[in-house]
Amino acid sequence: MRIAVDWDRCEGHGICADQAPKVFSLDDEGELHYAFDGGDIPDDLASAARSAIGACPVAALRESK
Ligand code: SF4
Repeated sequence: MRIAVDWDRCEGHGICADQAPKVFSLDDEGELHYAFDGGDIPDDLASAARSAIGACPVAALRESK
């Protein structure tokens, strides 16, 4: 699976990083980092990644092909 991040929408709350810490993280300045930008998320992280999509309070994440 892949996730499309709407960077303009993201407010850096980091809830996605709590749900999927191997996929998302925040740097010291609160900027979101997406570990698989432009690539596929490994199958063993897909469940956590979907949880992150559902948890984002501003709907900045969506599953893409
Ligand atoms: S939960 Fe949503 S708004 Fe918060 S850092 Fe993640 S993508 Fe951005």
